[in-house]
Amino acid sequence: MRILMKGHLLTPAFHHDSASHTITELPNIPHHNPNPTFPFNPQIQTFLFGKQLLLDEIPHPVEELFTHVNAGYITLRRPFIKDGRKIKCARCGSSDHLATYPCARCGNEQCHYCRNCLMMGRVSACTPLFHWSGPSPSTLIVEQPLKWDGTLSTGQQQASTAVVEAIKNKKEYLVWAV
Ligand SMILES: [Zn+2]
Ligand SMILES: [Zn+2]
Repeated sequence: MRILMKGHLLTPAFHHDSASHTITELPNIPHHNPNPTFPFNPQIQTFLFGKQLLLDEIPHPVEELFTHVNAGYITLRRPFIKDGRKIKCARCGSSDHLATYPCARCGNEQCHYCRNCLMMGRVSACTPLFHWSGPSPSTLIVEQPLKWDGTLSTGQQQASTAVVEAIKNKKEYLVWAV
């Protein structure tokens, strides 16, 4: 993905031209305080809160994400950070597994990417990490979270007793429930 920056506003761009930049090439990433009148999407809030995710991992349109970016509710983070002389992956922290590949997304013949966390999706120099920077979702406090009023069947009761015994005796016990 490439990004167009006009003033302090960012727009996603999916073609290669000289006006757009990758997140790594952007000279600065504008920071906005959350605009209190912006009608943010609570589904994005719940999904993204406390995480930093790649665009491919977020089930919302990129245009909607960028309206949240420009309203201060989502922050884009650079995929790689400088740590002294080393460059580290901002997601997994590895600096030993960086490689390059010819990247169709940004048009760079040698786009850097992290091999260490590749199984979670490719962190590359042209992929921002999306982070929720608006208010925290309100959490529902359950008074007695582990209380259950049901009755166990005979088989469930046997398994339950055996698990309690195993925990008391610090043993391992596998319950196969279908
Ligand atoms: Zn990584
Ligand atoms: Zn790229």
